[in-house]
Parts: sequence; structure tokens; C-alpha cells
Amino acid sequence: MAIFDKFEQLAEERRRLLEGGVSVDPLDTVMGRVLSPTEAIVEGRRTILAGTNNYLGLTFDPDCVEAAAEAARWEGTGTTGSRMANGTYSSHAALEQELADFFGRKTAIVFSTGYQANLGILSSLIGPDDTILLDADCHASIYDGVRLSGAETFRFRHNRVEDLERRLRRLRDRSGEVVVLVEGIYSMLGDRAPLAEIAEVTKAHGAYLIVDEAHSLGVLGETGRGRAEEAGVEAAVDFVIGTFSKSLGAIGGYCVSDYPELDLLRYTSRPYIFTASPSPSIIASTREALRILQERPELRVRLWENAERLYRHLEGLGFRLGPEVSPVVAPRLPRAEDALALWQGLLEAGVYVNLVLPPATPDDSSLLRCSVSAGHTPEQMEAICTAFSELRDLAHGA
Ligand code: PMP
Repeated sequence: MAIFDKFEQLAEERRRLLEGGVSVDPLDTVMGRVLSPTEAIVEGRRTILAGTNNYLGLTFDPDCVEAAAEAARWEGTGTTGSRMANGTYSSHAALEQELADFFGRKTAIVFSTGYQANLGILSSLIGPDDTILLDADCHASIYDGVRLSGAETFRFRHNRVEDLERRLRRLRDRSGEVVVLVEGIYSMLGDRAPLAEIAEVTKAHGAYLIVDEAHSLGVLGETGRGRAEEAGVEAAVDFVIGTFSKSLGAIGGYCVSDYPELDLLRYTSRPYIFTASPSPSIIASTREALRILQERPELRVRLWENAERLYRHLEGLGFRLGPEVSPVVAPRLPRAEDALALWQGLLEAGVYVNLVLPPATPDDSSLLRCSVSAGHTPEQMEAICTAFSELRDLAHGA
């Protein structure tokens, strides 16, 4: 059909990649049965999950599961309505208050996904008369939100504060507001934003600073509030955006801020208004996970022990990785075919990681994106490391 002609090149690239005889499509892997935060049956085999964003391993936490089940029993399976209509329950409001309290902020808004949190905040808060400076490696949801805002947008080079500063200087005489957008930890290579420096130049130029802490909530900072807390610059961050789908083990998104006017977005933000609100069980398990995140800092300690272990092991094997130890550990391979062969080898050895191919990667390389969890046992970490050691030779030139 002619309407699909535009996908021909994509279809051809996929055919070529899969010709090598892979038995599982790496971009469409089916988890036959998920057994725990760190194990599933994939292709009939018990497999260690080393490619999720389940940083604190809370998806099977008994308190979270029980809270979700109880909420479904008492409030039903779904809200069947928008926050603006029938979809605001007392639990949505309670979670917003708990998020605001946790971050020490005045206001919080909950969205149905993290993707929608970026879409909803950026498209509504920023207008066509404003100007955006965003880190080139920002997530697709940030790019999409920015596009919907209609603002003129400039990308600065990833984590290059001098490039950001140069562009801020150039914008000095613009009318409208200037907004700087960065992430706490970047999802592909696991590197952190140099947030103290970014905050300093952003504030020196009177611009607003928005930080997406999707991968850093529960992971960084003394109390798990993320990169801004770790860098000691929370006061300079105007809006924090994040998700429930990683360390909190559910689905949903949020924005917190000290501006009470943030509440006005409830009447203007289309991705907030024109979609159903999160189901009661999602809100219930997220509230429980947020409590656990605060009460069990040892989870964060275990997460970082596992991160250190995998990063140092893969570094020792000579893989090219992101620049620093992080729960996201991503060997970069120059050739997609090698990445696919190694991905398949790992899966046959009982280890699942994420295969990420260009153009979704920051440079032209392919990534075997691993992410560790506080839920990985020492034995599982050993098995992941052993599988990489045994398959190292498949990664030519890496
Ligand atoms: N922001 C970042 C930085 C992300 O990595 C992601 C998801 N990978 C999102 C937002 C979207 O979050 P969600 O999957 O919860 O919609």
C-alpha cells in the first residue's frame, strides 16, 4: 500500500539486520512471564533482566503490590476520565501533596505517563514568544514537548556548559523568556548533567531551568531527590519533571515546582486534560514506592554497588562505556551486526539487555544498554559479568 512507501527503507534495514539468523527480534522481545524485578521467562528460558529501569527493584515489593490490589478492589480498575472531569480521586491529590512534600516544593502535578509530563508541561508552560535551549541528548519526550510549544529552539552540545553559556549570551536581547532543558542522568550512556555549572550560567542569564530527573529519582542525592539534590542546586531548578516508571516501579509522571501558578496548567495543558488519569492501583503502588524510597536508603546503596561492579567489569574487558559509573552501563559497539550478535549471545546465556541502534543512540554506535537494579543479587551480577566475559570476542573493534 502506497501509504507505507515511506517506511520502505526502514523495512529494508530491519530485514538486513535480522537476516543474520537471530531467533528473537531484539526490538520486539516478548517477556513470556515476568518472575521478579530481575528475572523473566524469555524464549522459554529463565533469564536475568539486566535491561530495565527498575532501579530500586520495587515492581514486586509486597507493600506496593498489596496497595495496588487493595485500591483496585475499593476504587475499581480505572478512573475512566480526565483529571479535569471525573478522574481526580482523593488518592491523586494525596500523591501530589506527597510529591510536593518529598521534594520540598509548593506544587506538584501528576500526569498519566512520564512522556506526557514532558509533553504537558513544556507545550503549555513555554509559548511561541519564548526561546528554548536544550541539551542535544535530551529524551524524545522533551523534543516532542518543545516542538508543541512553538518556541524557537536551539540545541547545545551534550553536557557542554561553555556552549550553553555562549548561546545564552547571544540571546541576551531577546524578548520573551529563555528556558534551559536538561536531564539529571542521561538514559543512554548513564552520564550526569554538570548541573551546578549549568544552574550557575542559567541563573546568571536570568533564564528558567527545567530538569528531567526520570533516571535520577531514587538514584542520586542524599535523600534520593535526584541530580539537583546531589549537586546542591535544587533552589536554582524551577521545575523538576519525572516519571513513576523507573525507580517507583509503576507508570505515570509528575512535575514539581515552587511556583504556585503551576496549577494553572491544569486548565491549559492538553496532555493533562485530554487523557484519562492514572488508575487507582497505579497511584496506590506509586505512593507506597515513594514511601519506601524514603524509608529504605539501603536500596540506593545496593544499586550503586551493583553499578560499580558491572561498570568496572565491562571496563576491564575493554568495552567503550559512558564516562562514569552509573546504574545505566552501556557498551558502545561501532557495528550494529556485532551488537546484535552479542545481544543474541547474551540472551542465549540467560541475560537480557537493551539493544539500542542508531538513530536512537547519541553517536553512530550501537549500544548494549544494561541497567542494574537494587534487586540484583550478587549471584545475578556474577552471572551477567561472566556472560559478557565469555562473549567478549563477538564485539570486534569495541
Ligand atoms: N524522560 C526521560 C529522560 C526518559 O528516559 C523517559 C523514558 N525512558 C521519559 C521521560 C518518559 O517516561 P515514561 O516512560 O514514564 O513515559
